[in-house]
Amino acid sequence: MTAHETADDKYVYDFAEGNKELKDLLGGKGANLAEMTNLGLPVPPGFTITTEACKAYLATGREPDGLAGQIEAHLESLEREMGRRLGDPQDPLLVSVRSGAKFSMPGMMETVLNVGLNDRSVVGLSAQAGGNDRFAWDSYRRLIQMFGKTVCEVPGEEFEHALDEAKRAKGATNDLDLDADDLRGLVDAYQKIFVRHTGREFPQEPREQLDLAIRAVFESWNAERAILYRRQERIPADLGTAVNVVAMVFGNLGPDSGTGVAFTRDPGSGAQGIYGDYLANAQGEDVVAGIRNTVPLQELERLDSRSYHELLDIMARLEGHYQDLCDIEFTIERGKLWMLQTRVGKRTAAAAFVIAGQLVDEGLIDLDEALHRVNGAQLAQLMFPRFQLDHEFPPVARGIGASPGAASGTVVFTSARAVELAAEGKSVILVRRETNPDDLNGMIAAQGILTSRGGKTSHAAVVARGMGKTCVSGADEIEVDVPAKRFVVGGRTVTEGDVVSIDGTTGKVYLGEVPVMPSEVVQYFEGSLDPEHIDNALVRAVHRIMTHADDRRRLTVRTNADTGADAARARRFGAEGIGLCRTEHMFLGDRRELVERLILAATDTDRTDALAALLPLQRQDFVEIFREMDGLPVTVRLIDPPLHEFLPPLEQLAVNVAVAQERGEDVAKEEALLAAVRRMHEENPMLGLRGVRLGLVIPGLFAMQVRAIAEAAVAVTRDGGVARPEIMVPLVGAVQELETVRAEAEKIIAEVVGDSGVEVLIGTMIEVPRAALTAGQIAEAAEFFSFGTNDLTQMGWGFSRDDVEGAFFWRYLELGIFGISPFESIDRDGVGRLVRIAAEEGRAARPGLKLGVCGEHGGDPDSVHFFHEVGLDYVSCSPFRVPVARLEAGRAAIETTGSDSR
Ligand code: PEP
Ligand code: MG
Repeated sequence: MTAHETADDKYVYDFAEGNKELKDLLGGKGANLAEMTNLGLPVPPGFTITTEACKAYLATGREPDGLAGQIEAHLESLEREMGRRLGDPQDPLLVSVRSGAKFSMPGMMETVLNVGLNDRSVVGLSAQAGGNDRFAWDSYRRLIQMFGKTVCEVPGEEFEHALDEAKRAKGATNDLDLDADDLRGLVDAYQKIFVRHTGREFPQEPREQLDLAIRAVFESWNAERAILYRRQERIPADLGTAVNVVAMVFGNLGPDSGTGVAFTRDPGSGAQGIYGDYLANAQGEDVVAGIRNTVPLQELERLDSRSYHELLDIMARLEGHYQDLCDIEFTIERGKLWMLQTRVGKRTAAAAFVIAGQLVDEGLIDLDEALHRVNGAQLAQLMFPRFQLDHEFPPVARGIGASPGAASGTVVFTSARAVELAAEGKSVILVRRETNPDDLNGMIAAQGILTSRGGKTSHAAVVARGMGKTCVSGADEIEVDVPAKRFVVGGRTVTEGDVVSIDGTTGKVYLGEVPVMPSEVVQYFEGSLDPEHIDNALVRAVHRIMTHADDRRRLTVRTNADTGADAARARRFGAEGIGLCRTEHMFLGDRRELVERLILAATDTDRTDALAALLPLQRQDFVEIFREMDGLPVTVRLIDPPLHEFLPPLEQLAVNVAVAQERGEDVAKEEALLAAVRRMHEENPMLGLRGVRLGLVIPGLFAMQVRAIAEAAVAVTRDGGVARPEIMVPLVGAVQELETVRAEAEKIIAEVVGDSGVEVLIGTMIEVPRAALTAGQIAEAAEFFSFGTNDLTQMGWGFSRDDVEGAFFWRYLELGIFGISPFESIDRDGVGRLVRIAAEEGRAARPGLKLGVCGEHGGDPDSVHFFHEVGLDYVSCSPFRVPVARLEAGRAAIETTGSDSR
């Protein structure tokens, strides 16, 4: 006996003993078979061996004590109920042995049908079937085939080959053309194959067949494909599978028999009705194998009206009982209907919303439950334009789906060309190895962005998501050659002017134009579809559930936006303020020259002049944003990135200078620039002169920004608006840094604001681990904290955010070190712990400290739940994610108050 077992552990449950709540123990299939049995529905009798038995077997390599005896007892009672004995030569009971884990893993584990047949009982089966020899021998050959393959690892092709051989000898093309004698011959051939591969005869003892089949199902939990599937679907590896032993019923006994699948509503659109397929004179695996074409379920009414109406009654009962869309498998044996499976059915994102809304209308569930049954990932899917992929388009490359959506356009390689063609009304895809802040104009002009390097938090990805623009990053199969204006993929060359299509959800890249459809849900959020006045079930359901989420949520949702236009759109999407306005984007384009002057300033006067020229431009930027966000808080972050990002790349500059010198041109200015770039070169710029460090090193830089913010706020207020600026200092690691910036800022604010009534808060980002760990001290100098979880993840894990996702995360995911990139979804145990510590210690030092998050995680569904749990006041995310965050904040609130019923 092991730690997993005790003498009186119950490992086997009759269907009548279980219920739908026991999925952990009986698996989804077993729990639902039990539920249907107890509802009095026609389920073939049977029993379920628990996941605990499976776990014990997998841990020790043998069946737990007591299991064999319990199986014996349940088998006896099954035999009594059926009036037949397993393997009885005259009148055999046959059973199926089916896997069934807590979560559906379709086709990943094993099933063996017709257990109990042997050389003698095959004759009894024929008699049972009214002398149908063909049926009996066909059932036997299926058993040997399935058993051989799944239990004894006989290569499946050997059986296929023998079957083909039998058909060839007969001149037949269809399995159904083989008669009883052919199938008897095939059984003989299969048995020889079995002996050749296993060194033993096909087991004739029915109980041995059963025990070996059960063991094979246990072991299939750890089959390679099951492991891969679990990893992909994030199903825990330690659940184990249950095993269902069910009396066989046959859909292949003649034209009055058959098998089918059905849904109680359309899993594609959510529309009410009867959806399903039926195949007469067939077993379930024939439907899957697609040997013959199924007919629509409605046809069954003509074929067998009584069974059809009984099935409809059962479907209605199941829907009412489960209060949800159910999917069903059934078999009709000689006019008698049997239910083989039901479960709450999978559905598309659109159907999830529509069905939740319908069930509320029908009084089956309340709005909390409806909110619980949809999620942010589904909403996000509904917000993207989609490709109309009527027929399969082969992708030419696959990168990271960095910013979802679908975009087609002419390939361009430079920002300038993107702007030029967009001005001509063309749709363009900007293709780069990777983007940098200089590409911003091109990214704005482009329909989509494709890069061959970088992950989900690369520059291209973050900026594209912020704009709601489609982006595929890190498509490393494409080789981009910007000077030659072309890229090569799989031996094909794509040049400027060719058309490509990119899918930012799947990361797939296509050559040519794939047609695109806009999202109705976005049109609704944008205000161009009125849910009260249009006949669109999806939009009405989204409206209703979103309204409820807003009523329920405690978290406020802000947006990350740097321009008035982004701010306005985010506001339409429901943003309740700006949580991060990155000011560095305001230092590009025409203003680059001023920034260069600032960086190269040899004297105080040069620097002061450059700053003075930047001040009015910055002020105007802020005026626009404060106007759009009238009455709502706007967090403006002082400049953050390493300064070299504003200067030309070192290599390019060095080449330019060398060429110009060669030609004897005057290169004094370029040489000065080159010297500055060399001087400022950093091995690790993300850990170098950036953030608050810039403010402390370059006199007047932060002061200029603080003045511009305060002056803009005063100007907007004087015009009758309400500006609520919050100045945020990036990359703080020590309270002294913040105190220094704060002292200077307070002086300027007091001077500018005067008696205008404008109130300016000063706070900090918490994005350096040291800041999180000394949050109690930092809170003394901060009115708010905003967690920069991008940098906190980068520095917490020591992962370069621009490199690692494309470089080696695949291996980490494969090894299960994490199930999802920590840049995408907050690492609760590590980075999340830093957030928790900082929130607790910050609030302890300063009650009422405002807490938010503005890293990419602010729009990630699971992370939103975490931020709700740790008690933040708001999340801030890119405009397109605002509705997702609203929905998830609502879901988080009902889940923690425990009002959900599932
Ligand atoms: C962060 O680090 O999470 C953040 C929001 O700042 P940035 O992405 O601009 O570094
Ligand atoms: Mg940061």
